[in-house]
Amino acid sequence: MRRREMTTIKTTCDWCGDIHLTPDEVALELRPGGREGDYRFRCPACASPQRRPANSRVVSVLLATGVRFEVINPDPITESEIKAFAFALEVEHDPLRLLAG
Ligand SMILES: [Zn+2]
Repeated sequence: MRRREMTTIKTTCDWCGDIHLTPDEVALELRPGGREGDYRFRCPACASPQRRPANSRVVSVLLATGVRFEVINPDPITESEIKAFAFALEVEHDPLRLLAG
């Protein structure tokens, strides 16, 4: 019989330092677009609830381990804004320059 391997997620607690969480203990909040967001967890050692920013790399790692996620949409963007952004990405060969203004 095959057992599913339990993945652990290594993060840090403000109080305890390095801790390991299982995917069940983490909740991911994605911003619209789904590439970045925040993740929440309760430290298994001191039980304090915490929140960390998740960049796109962290988001893909967390999703790969099977954490549950929800898309947070406090400020809905319109269809035309999405199209404008997609268009800007197409014509801009170095997307980081968009962020630099
Ligand atoms: Zn802790």
